[in-house]
Amino acid sequence: MGRAFVYVILGGGVAAGYAALEFVKRGVSSGELCIISDEPVAPYERPALSKGYLLPEAPARLPSFHTCVGANEERLTPKWYKEHGIEVVLGTRVKSADVRRKTLLTAMGETISYKFLIIATGARALKLEEFGVKGSDSENVCYLRDLADANRIVDVMHSSAGGNAVVIGGGYIGMECAASLVISKINVTMVFPEDHCMARLFTPKIAAYYEEYYMAKGVKFIKGTVLSSFDIDSNGKVTAVLLRDGTRLPADMVVVGIGIRPNTSLFEGQLTLEKGGIKVNGKMQSSNSSVYAVGDVAAFPVKLFSETRRLEHVDSARKSARHAVSAIMEPEKTGDFDYLPFFYSRVFTLSWQFYGDNVGEAIHFGDFGGSKFGAFWVSKGQLVGSFLEGGTKEEYEAIAKATRLKPVIEDTAELETLGLEFALAV
Ligand code: FAD
Ligand code: NDP
Repeated sequence: MGRAFVYVILGGGVAAGYAALEFVKRGVSSGELCIISDEPVAPYERPALSKGYLLPEAPARLPSFHTCVGANEERLTPKWYKEHGIEVVLGTRVKSADVRRKTLLTAMGETISYKFLIIATGARALKLEEFGVKGSDSENVCYLRDLADANRIVDVMHSSAGGNAVVIGGGYIGMECAASLVISKINVTMVFPEDHCMARLFTPKIAAYYEEYYMAKGVKFIKGTVLSSFDIDSNGKVTAVLLRDGTRLPADMVVVGIGIRPNTSLFEGQLTLEKGGIKVNGKMQSSNSSVYAVGDVAAFPVKLFSETRRLEHVDSARKSARHAVSAIMEPEKTGDFDYLPFFYSRVFTLSWQFYGDNVGEAIHFGDFGGSKFGAFWVSKGQLVGSFLEGGTKEEYEAIAKATRLKPVIEDTAELETLGLEFALAV
């Protein structure tokens, strides 16, 4: 059994949705494009799952957040794919790939062949077992990567109303889920190994602001230690979390956000890998010229830093997907991807944006006692990264522009005094 397509997108997440829209904009013909996804629904904006989806009042639900609403573009419903002659194969896992033969084999036993393949398989959540802790299968231990995980969290939150949640991990998932749990009136304790939250991006000063804000909302922090085991009752439910420092935390539910691993396994030994992802060039093309990789799974050259990076953020998934489609359909007109890394988050009434790279010296500015502040990172005499909390659209655009230009900074004291004014004047 087999089918042949000109273009196949493997994976049905954020990058797949944005790639599909770009194919249509560039005039793909009916029957040429196929998307294969093991999720049961058409591509959606994954960031909604830790934010609107978990709210107690008027939560976001599909079809409202199918791609590409997150970039203020058309919402691609299942009907849209049908109308454009795009074959969307849902609930179907690809279990092997042969890049020499240009075929994929699905778990249903179907062989799908392609002329061009876009790998958009994203990543999977790391499990506690990978750190030597058992208990991920317990009904009240939750991870968050896809819709099924989000539905599970919603159910467990309902049955834990007024109770205690332990959030393991102080990264994006930990911070966003902790906020959603508090809004749903669940008591939250966050546990993570570092000295402060969001250690990969926040400076200690930015983290202190966030932690104080969270504490004022009732969140407790236990830092510098990790989970050692769970107390599990005879029904298989976790009742307490035991930490390596000896603390025992009673728990009605546990949310785990301890990082991800890109889904590269189908291509190991067939394509060149780097930084845990599939290595691609500036056209998002892998070591096999018919195969492209985009989104969380792709390690691509970031021109601005003259370095290969793998980014795990939605803006990079959207833009790398569009770039790959452009490179496939109009190769002569497509240059190298020139991407300015952009990350953001929204929790409670707080909201920040970050552009560039957080290396070198951090220069803080603004009112850390109020609601608008930030930091610039200066490396080798140039501004390379900018963070702003509570900015307006114009201010975020200004820090993005300034970061892309990498201006020379002669006097960091002056930069500190000027703060946001510096970016607005660039
Ligand atoms: P994904 O969106 O993960 O899609 C991968 C797809 O491939 C999935 O559909 C998966 O099921 C499918 N797949 C994988 N393997 C196979 C296979 N073998 N066969 C068939 N299908 C397969 N980023 C931000 O910048 N801002 C945010 O606020 C933000 N919030 C987030 C909130 C949550 C809860 C999560 C989990 C992530 C968030 N991110 C955020 C990160 C962002 O969502 C990802 O960077 C983005 O989804 C990456 O897109 P992708 O298409 O590469 O991967
Ligand atoms: P992150 O990498 O953001 O954070 C993982 C956190 O878990 C870190 O604090 C890490 O510490 C900690 N950790 C690692 N191992 C352990 C352990 N054994 N016990 C306790 N803590 C541990 O990953 P997340 O899981 O939070 O997020 C998953 C993905 O989702 C990421 O790709 C992220 O980009 C994406 N996402 C993005 C959002 C956004 O951009 N707004 C929102 C939600 C998700 P250490 O650094 O020491 O390893």
